[in-house]
Amino acid sequence: SLGDRLQGVFDSLRGRGRLTEDEVRAALREVRVALLEADVSLEVARDFTKRVQEKAVGSETLMSLQPDQRVIAIVHDELVELLGGKTAQPSLKNDANVWLLLGLQGAGKTTTAGKLAYKYKAQGRRPLLVAADTQRPAAREQLRVLGKQIGVPVLEVEDHETPARTRARLQEVLRTTYHDLVIVDTAGRLQIDEALMDAVAELKAELSPSETMLVIDAMTGQQSLPVAKTFDERVGVTGLIMTKLDGDARGGAALSARHVTGKPIYFAGMSEKIDGLEAFHPDRIAGRILGMGDVLTLIEKAKALEGDDEADAAATLKDFSLQDMLTQMQKIKRMGSFTEILKMIPGASRLLPPGAEIDEREIARIEAIISSMTERERRQPKLLNASRRKRIAAGSGTSVQDVNRLMKNYEQMKKVMKQLGRRPPGRGLPGRGL
Ligand code: GDP
Ligand code: MG
Repeated sequence: SLGDRLQGVFDSLRGRGRLTEDEVRAALREVRVALLEADVSLEVARDFTKRVQEKAVGSETLMSLQPDQRVIAIVHDELVELLGGKTAQPSLKNDANVWLLLGLQGAGKTTTAGKLAYKYKAQGRRPLLVAADTQRPAAREQLRVLGKQIGVPVLEVEDHETPARTRARLQEVLRTTYHDLVIVDTAGRLQIDEALMDAVAELKAELSPSETMLVIDAMTGQQSLPVAKTFDERVGVTGLIMTKLDGDARGGAALSARHVTGKPIYFAGMSEKIDGLEAFHPDRIAGRILGMGDVLTLIEKAKALEGDDEADAAATLKDFSLQDMLTQMQKIKRMGSFTEILKMIPGASRLLPPGAEIDEREIARIEAIISSMTERERRQPKLLNASRRKRIAAGSGTSVQDVNRLMKNYEQMKKVMKQLGRRPPGRGLPGRGL
């Protein structure tokens, strides 16, 4: 994957002293190849590495970092820029929002219309779906079923209905029922053609939507992007929705989309399910691509851990005791699933036994076991021989196997914490604190 390739480049820089310009250039050549292999367009890849190069050799502050960290940090920041910088959201007025969805057949328009209605209904909006795809016989039926499933009414456009008539019927519905968000699903074709463009443009002219979102199938890769340009030229597009990102291992379309189309990506489709639509956070996606776990989400959650100042955190990472494990567990219990947290720590997800989600009961058990240890045992786990483990199991109402399993988990966590602790304090995670 792109993440693996980039990791390889970073690894080759690790432990080196100051880099010469040539060395940086060689590393960036590798980065460019990695981007191209991820199906990023040549122009985007070239631009990208050029900007990283300029930053990597130009900045004194950055020079004080280790070379690999410096390059990781710059690549991370540039990836965020490439993906659009800040998270972009569609405009949403207090009422009378009309969102028009466009795209080729199979891109995911109908599914996404349902997902959007579901998402915004949950936020207290009153959506109305409009099934304006009269091309495919089953299209309106598909949206009707979705609407029923989520309790959102669906206005169905009739065969051969003119866009003007559709507008009139929509206005009629809005006169009698309150809706503040109208989501219009439209027809697509397998390829762009004149008739499709004309039809969509005409519908747009009648409905004057506040947002016109182009739905793009990420699986089609960068070749979907010229299509986006055509839609924008002919109809006008305000934002993009990338679907099927769950299936796109390479991510090329998502990486190039902003740059090639100039339009923000509003949402990412992450599954076929009704709740499988997420806001598109460039910083998080960049973190994921770099294979460092969901770094920023982790930082946010870490900030929620009250009383953990930086020095404390650094000490904990370096010298992780059973007491620390218990303290972390208790904090985590208040924050949400442990597994979820662990998944966000770089490399830590590998430590989870496959399929084994650590649940609340497991945390309670761990709590009981560690509570049954003496202070000294918590600080010096080496003391825990067979007879002590037996005593602890009896004291905590668990079994010796439970205690052994906990110790194994602890050893693994300690390893991860040590790795994290090796990064310099305060900028242990890339993209921050430069
Ligand atoms: P339309 O022709 O543009 O309306 O496309 P549909 O909404 O009918 O979707 C086409 C196919 O893509 C369906 O099988 C959907 O379930 C699937 N699909 C849509 N969005 C996503 C997504 O984000 N992830 C995955 N895995 N499948 C999706
Ligand atoms: Mg459809």
